[in-house]
Amino acid sequence: MKNILILGGGFAGVEAAIFLKKENYKVTLVSDREFFYIFPTSIWVPTRETEFEKLCVDLKELQEAHGFELIVDGVTNISAKKGEVTLASGKILNEYDELIVAMGASKMKHKGIENTLSICGVPEHSLLIREQVDKIVAMGKGKICFGFGGNPKDSSAVRGGPGFELLFNVHNLLKKKGIRDNYELTFFAPMPEPGKRMGPQALKMMAKVFNMLDIKAHFGKKIKSFEKDGIIFEDDSKLESDFTMFIPAGDGHEVIKNSDLPLNDAGFVKVDDFCNVDVEEKDREHNIYAIGDTAALEGYEWRAKQGHIAEVMARNVAHNIKEKESGSTSFLGYNEHLNILCVMDSGNGASFVYRDEKRAFMIPMPVVGHWLKKGWGVYARYSKLGKIPRIPGM
Ligand SMILES: Cc1cc2nc3c(=O)[nH]c(=O)nc-3n(C[C@H](O)[C@H](O)[C@H](O)COP(=O)(O)OP(=O)(O)OC[C@H]3O[C@@H](n4cnc5c(N)ncnc54)[C@H](O)[C@@H]3O)c2cc1C
Repeated sequence: MKNILILGGGFAGVEAAIFLKKENYKVTLVSDREFFYIFPTSIWVPTRETEFEKLCVDLKELQEAHGFELIVDGVTNISAKKGEVTLASGKILNEYDELIVAMGASKMKHKGIENTLSICGVPEHSLLIREQVDKIVAMGKGKICFGFGGNPKDSSAVRGGPGFELLFNVHNLLKKKGIRDNYELTFFAPMPEPGKRMGPQALKMMAKVFNMLDIKAHFGKKIKSFEKDGIIFEDDSKLESDFTMFIPAGDGHEVIKNSDLPLNDAGFVKVDDFCNVDVEEKDREHNIYAIGDTAALEGYEWRAKQGHIAEVMARNVAHNIKEKESGSTSFLGYNEHLNILCVMDSGNGASFVYRDEKRAFMIPMPVVGHWLKKGWGVYARYSKLGKIPRIPGM
């Protein structure tokens, strides 16, 4: 029986572990976190619509449900050539047949970033954002700026959706408290048309929503630095802010950048359609795969690193390992599944956003959209724990 080592316990790593166990492989998952985190629903932590703990699924529970081995430790080095993975504890893992790298991404580093918080950073930051939201609500008035940045070396690493969602939720919170008029809410981004990847209709709709909710847009100016009380742009102009939530674009994971894996310019691992890492056989001990945010996505200009793509890659790799072992070449690729799919929450409803190579649309779903997304969060937890059946493809 093949021995498979998975690095990372996020959407990609956990899905790979679940599907490889279904094929009866011996699977070991290494994670530097004790829990799997349901990132998409973390937008509700700052406004107290949900509790942080509800988004954490204990990896031990997942281990018990599916029967994989679990090591909670940080990966500090990966050597394809030696066929070794080194952990923070000093342990060296080398007794595996196939390696799956699923460690997510690091973030771009901006000057003064410590003056901001990101909803896409480490999970616990959602609680720090909550503290800041509480503080600014207690002030009774103020200026709140939310934004996201790009990575010029890899356009797929941009993550803006959660920024829009959180801002709409904060807007609704202030409205419920009857104090919205005392606040200036601004969304900022260095690109002239943030959200463009969702398609032209979505872009128009977002502009309308901003107008309706009295959210100012500050687009198209490069960010120079962040200060305690605002954002400085390339022309030295300043956007004043009492609280800045900023999502830096993804960048290659630091450990991976220091490994001997082949990388694109941004530091993401180069893979083919089947998620095989592009290393010649003479330069590696084992087959290596990279999946999820760690992998360099190829294809459409609008492609984006998303959780459902991470899971498609994971299921494909589980299938492909089995196929390879049985001598078949019916491998599955991720490219034909590239799409943007998200239920963008607004606190009192949501919009269904979809884009693939043929279509791009955004459908408003007042009230019901919000509850659909909430329902998905519950589904994600219990279906991964095997307590409710999986809906195919989800
Ligand atoms: C707020 C938010 C909202 C989102 N909304 C959506 C959405 O609506 N739809 C959608 O499809 N996608 C959404 N995404 C994107 C989605 O969550 C990511 O694409 C997905 O998490 C990627 O999964 P991953 O497993 O590749 O990486 P991650 O989820 O980042 O997991 C990486 C794992 O590796 C572990 N790790 C990292 N470094 C090490 C190390 N050195 N040693 C050991 N372990 C390590 C981490 O602890 C983590 O468990 C959202 C993301 C955020 C942050």
